[in-house]
Amino acid sequence: MRRKLAAGNWKMNGTGVALSELKALRAAHPSSPAEILICPPATLLHRAAAAVEGSEIAIGGQDCHAAVSGAHTGDLSAEMLLDAGANAVILGHSERREDHGEQNEEIRAKARAAMDAGLKAIICVGESLNQREAANTLDIIGGQMSGSIPDQATGENLIVAYEPIWAIGTGKVPTLEEIGEVHDFIRARLERRFGEGVGRSVRLLYGGSVKPSNAVEIFGVSNVDGALVGGASLKAEDFSGIIRAL
Ligand code: 13P
Repeated sequence: MRRKLAAGNWKMNGTGVALSELKALRAAHPSSPAEILICPPATLLHRAAAAVEGSEIAIGGQDCHAAVSGAHTGDLSAEMLLDAGANAVILGHSERREDHGEQNEEIRAKARAAMDAGLKAIICVGESLNQREAANTLDIIGGQMSGSIPDQATGENLIVAYEPIWAIGTGKVPTLEEIGEVHDFIRARLERRFGEGVGRSVRLLYGGSVKPSNAVEIFGVSNVDGALVGGASLKAEDFSGIIRAL
């Protein structure tokens, strides 16, 4: 059985005061059947990890460099994230693909570094509105998967997040059929490449305008093992509603 996962991506939001939301989240979920992960900005990683120590909540990064160390001003290695208290890292988010021109090959190298360091890699895939309207969604997702998921992936170290770009922060959500079609496709591709055992054990998250009011129906879709949540992860009350829907 795949353990359900509610992952919050705070993106470039939050200073020290935001830790109160993390403490409220901790208090609201003294135990949880689902795994709970919060990915705060890097400046908060250490304090966030301290705030959730001994609780059900884990902490993750939002990106890492592919190299172990070196002359890469402003970047962070996977080992540094681990050292700061993270056990996971989001990679290949569409905002990084867009803002930083990240390509599949680079994302694959980052994922390799993350897995080598012992982090879970949450690799994001997703189509633009133009690509969906041109009926290219599955081709795009398939290409992103084969390009950015490294060969060493297992059910332990890989999580795939399907985030249609047009659904991120827009309040627009694909139909349940559309979500199901993509998640079934991702599952089939993983099974084909890694074999049934590994393919079936990788968790698949849906991301894009998930909120408490639509979480139950989204989590009812086959092969949806949880969510990667942006805006609604910033407030403990909203994120709690999503966690309870799992
Ligand atoms: P929203 O939940 O704000 O749409 O963001 C989704 C996302 O990009 C999570 O990584």
